Amino acid sequence: MDFALSPEEAAFQEAVRKFGDKVLRPHERQIDSEGRIPDAVLQEMARLGLLSPLVPPEYGGLGASAVLTELAAEEIGRGDFSMATAVFYLLEAGWGWTLSQHGTDEAKREILPAVTAGKAFLGIATTEPGGGSDLGNMRTESRREGDGYVLRGEKAFLTGVEEAKRLGGGHLTLTHNRNGSGFNFLYVPTNSPGIASQKFENMGRMGISTGGLTYADVRLPLRYRVGEEGKGFQYAMEGFQVARTFVSAACVGAAERALETGIGWIKERQAFGQPLGKFEGIQFEMADLYTQIEAVKWQCRRAAWLIDQHVMKGDPSHRSEIDKVVASVKLTAPQVAFDTVRRVMMWFGAAGYTKDVGLELGFRGIMSYMVGAEGGLNIMRIILGRELLGKEFVPYK
Ligand SMILES: Cc1cc2nc3c(=O)[nH]c(=O)nc-3n(C[C@H](O)[C@H](O)[C@H](O)COP(=O)(O)OP(=O)(O)OC[C@H]3O[C@@H](n4cnc5c(N)ncnc54)[C@H](O)[C@@H]3O)c2cc1C
Repeated sequence: MDFALSPEEAAFQEAVRKFGDKVLRPHERQIDSEGRIPDAVLQEMARLGLLSPLVPPEYGGLGASAVLTELAAEEIGRGDFSMATAVFYLLEAGWGWTLSQHGTDEAKREILPAVTAGKAFLGIATTEPGGGSDLGNMRTESRREGDGYVLRGEKAFLTGVEEAKRLGGGHLTLTHNRNGSGFNFLYVPTNSPGIASQKFENMGRMGISTGGLTYADVRLPLRYRVGEEGKGFQYAMEGFQVARTFVSAACVGAAERALETGIGWIKERQAFGQPLGKFEGIQFEMADLYTQIEAVKWQCRRAAWLIDQHVMKGDPSHRSEIDKVVASVKLTAPQVAFDTVRRVMMWFGAAGYTKDVGLELGFRGIMSYMVGAEGGLNIMRIILGRELLGKEFVPYK
């Protein structure tokens, strides 16, 4: 066992941290207030290989490992505290990888080079207005017709709807398979005829949009099906294992930044004749936060390592172990990050409540991962319940 980063991993991590410090931090307020990530920032991400790094080089990616991608997610979550850039990054990383693994050659050639160049957005569409947790009960359906599929239904709360309209691109979309059993997983370009969109006004991570799409007999070519007909659910679940790991890593980066900000403050801020950090009450809180962050950080890296050892190699063994580790980190990381931001805000007193200190950016952004993005906390608990008690005891519903 070796916990040290390889020289390649350490150099990549340093390069992404530099990008976070020099490019993301100076732009984060603008990203939040203008409601978009500037094109220049996306172009710089493309230049550094940060738009879907797992994708093989033949499609414009780095062919990076999940560990490398996880390290970058930490740094991007630390760099743009609003989480908007991290969300853009992790969705493309996770779902770009799924497309590169299971998409048709024509679709990969058409879509992935644009995604890795920052000229298209790629996201995920599973949630519907009727609910996002109980995916088995979704209504959206696809049926075979001629040499393609016809899609009908509605999805909601999708990240990147406006970005896909503006840049081009679309979402990997989970649909009922009308021709038989199971689900189809289809790439749906957002600008296709028959699609209408709606934008939701979120409370945070303003630099990336959330919207709804309705599909009125949208025609899609056969080449846009990801994997086999009727087996879409399994590709989506595999993709969630990967994307949830990167979500958690972004939360770790944000938590580390919040704690560092707090440590800087408590060494300086005077109360009752000494710096706040001299009071044990504050030191103990700091120690607890550090311990929680370190625990979830290393669990995240373990999740990425397990994904490299098995999922990336198409090896379905260890599925249960990976499900447990990923559900644990997606359950813990947003809570640890939120808790860290909340407590550090209180160390700042009134200043913590201002936009000058900037902790509210993280407070609003991280909350998206508490309420549900990439799966609600209780869904992670349900996965753990099923895996710990056994599928016979807690069967899939
Ligand atoms: C900012 C943001 C971005 C998002 N981006 C995307 C995206 O890009 N693509 C996409 O498809 N979806 C996206 N979502 C939606 C997200 O996947 C859903 O919010 C999530 O799956 C939960 O679904 P829901 O919101 O419909 O809540 P519901 O499914 O209605 O659940 C409501 C609450 O009840 C809990 N709950 C549900 N079932 C149980 C149970 N059996 N036991 C105990 N508790 C339960 C849930 O955890 C949740 O807290 C996004 C959400 C947000 C907030």
